[in-house]
Amino acid sequence: MSARLLDGVAIANQIRADVAPAVVEFTKKAGRPPGLGIVLVGDNPASEVYVRNKLKSAGETGMFAELTRLPATASLADLLAVVDTLNRSEKHDGILVQSPLPDAMGHDAERRVFDVVRADKDVDGFHPTNVGYLVQNRATLVACTPSGVIEVLERSNIPIAGARAVVIGRSDIVGKPMALLLLHRHATVTVAHSKTKDLPALCAEADILVAAIGRPGFVTKPFVRPGATVIDVGINRLDTKAAVEKMFPGDAARLATFEKRGALIVGDVHPNVAEVAGALTPVPGGVGPLTIALLLRNTLRAAQTRTGLAG
Ligand code: NAD
Repeated sequence: MSARLLDGVAIANQIRADVAPAVVEFTKKAGRPPGLGIVLVGDNPASEVYVRNKLKSAGETGMFAELTRLPATASLADLLAVVDTLNRSEKHDGILVQSPLPDAMGHDAERRVFDVVRADKDVDGFHPTNVGYLVQNRATLVACTPSGVIEVLERSNIPIAGARAVVIGRSDIVGKPMALLLLHRHATVTVAHSKTKDLPALCAEADILVAAIGRPGFVTKPFVRPGATVIDVGINRLDTKAAVEKMFPGDAARLATFEKRGALIVGDVHPNVAEVAGALTPVPGGVGPLTIALLLRNTLRAAQTRTGLAG
């Protein structure tokens, strides 16, 4: 068997195509476009790429998108002051503070920032109020990556109601909201994590297996029930030839990609799981593109809700 590959780029384009006319409509009614304020602290190269892509996509969809940069030496107080300005701004409907923050800001800096972003501008869905609404299944602003996974499943006609779902990972950003979104769609959900026993056997019971771990190629064929849907949220960078050869022995094509780019992006799922799974999201090109599409949809929703100008 060879799994159906679920095309995240195509699904992200569909969502963007849904959002674009509503942005035009909002702009006409409000006399201004929906606005997104992004804050980037320091110069983490991966964050630079993510932020550039978010700004570009928002601009292409007709939104106003603005970047505020702070140096890596900025204090938490400096960052909270920027958030305060964005909280008060009339032209910014959504606020996103790019993770990770510099270590020097303290271990709880991200949580302290998420706590002060206005809940109705919290397009990341990380504010405790929005998390509470999600628990109660009445959220409007939900974390982008797990929402993107739901879009992939629903738009690929993969049944969720009644399915047995296993989510590997319990982070506030992916694992926990993912489990809640599946539960609200009537899956029977198990959340697995680093202390879970007999993980492969547990995962092999799943109709839908979501991997959000942060370990390259961790999920292998024994984790997967034949015909199951496997969603790979992981984005990991292999930056040595030895690591590529270990994960993909004798794979000349992947080695060539590594040689050309100096790194290979891989998921938490080994791609040869496609020999067992019924459907699989590739990395890259699976869940990744959905995260930005859902950020745009959240920004539009925040703009509509704040102004009362629904589409
Ligand atoms: P995290 O480090 O916060 O959480 C990882 C989770 O995996 C933890 O809950 C931990 O219990 C679990 N885990 C770790 N080792 C394990 C093991 N051996 N067995 C079982 N569980 C284990 O990571 P995160 O922020 O949730 O991100 C997870 C992955 O998703 C990363 O690769 C990240 O880069 C990726 N990610 C992708 C997107 C996207 O846009 N596609 C967005 C966010 C995160």
